[in-house]
Amino acid sequence: MRVLITGGAGFIGSHLCDYFVDKGNAVICMDNLLTGRMENIAHLLGEKNFNFIQYDVTNYIFVDGPLDWILHLASPASPNDYLEYPIQTLKVGALGTHKALGLARAKKASFLIASTSEVYGDPLVHPQGEDYWGNVNPIGPRGVYDEAKRFAEAITYAYHRYHNVDIRIARIFNTFGPRMKHDDGRVVPTFINQVLRREPITVYGNGNQTRSFCYISDLVEGIYRLIQNDKVRLSNLGNQNEMTILDFAKLVMKIMNVKCEIVHKELPIDDPHVRQPDISRAKEFLKWEPVVSLEEGLKKTVEYFKNQFHHNK
Ligand code: UDP
Repeated sequence: MRVLITGGAGFIGSHLCDYFVDKGNAVICMDNLLTGRMENIAHLLGEKNFNFIQYDVTNYIFVDGPLDWILHLASPASPNDYLEYPIQTLKVGALGTHKALGLARAKKASFLIASTSEVYGDPLVHPQGEDYWGNVNPIGPRGVYDEAKRFAEAITYAYHRYHNVDIRIARIFNTFGPRMKHDDGRVVPTFINQVLRREPITVYGNGNQTRSFCYISDLVEGIYRLIQNDKVRLSNLGNQNEMTILDFAKLVMKIMNVKCEIVHKELPIDDPHVRQPDISRAKEFLKWEPVVSLEEGLKKTVEYFKNQFHHNK
């Protein structure tokens, strides 16, 4: 297969590049490096089946030759990043998805959009199944990401209905692993790096809000199963191992074998109170469920940040 991965230098995108190159596919990685990083794909640059193009996909996309799949991952994706780049986030979700879909149509390629559990907003249904329509504040600070992704899903479906493009939508829940940015503000890199620096751990609010964390290799496998199947177009992908952020802080300290002080900071506006994917659909149709335990995934992630930490000292 010949695959275009937008956002291919990002955290999830770069792991997808690895996966598809390893399986013997030709990969074109496109990224404007707004939040993606060359170091995530540096090891791939010499491969003959890998090409990198620095480009902003909110503009007309031109790719030479045939394409079988377009995996559209391009977007700032951490709360810090989309608060820093609100307009770019809206543009890549709307204009970027439009351009990527136009390319899929022209090339008769199949198309996958990386959507998000944020389409469920601060959910009133728990756990969140694909049939839930969500509880999103369009004009809140997170609205720039949530609504961009909701629009992206809508236009993806429209291209399917009106132009017959073969589409998949992956609603990705909290995912973690090596190649996250140490300062992207998300809870996993933040807590690990605070412990590495022996700084206090910043728990927002009382820490009773919950998240469910999926390790990157499980997520990549889920995306692969989703594009291989022809029964479902839309699926949640995430781990059901739900825990409070306070318990998560304690777990990180336990795994790193360090005790740090916990300080409470103000809870960000519209921070979802609970989040856990209902993955019955993925289990039934994709025969997929996560296999890496949180402890195992965290140990690998801690190793990654330890190396980065020593490297940057
Ligand atoms: N969080 C926290 N301390 C931090 C960073 C995040 O308590 O230093 C909390 C945040 O308020 C949220 C959860 O951890 O409830 C997960 O945040 P993250 O930014 O990783 O992603 P989200 O799931 O909110 O998109």
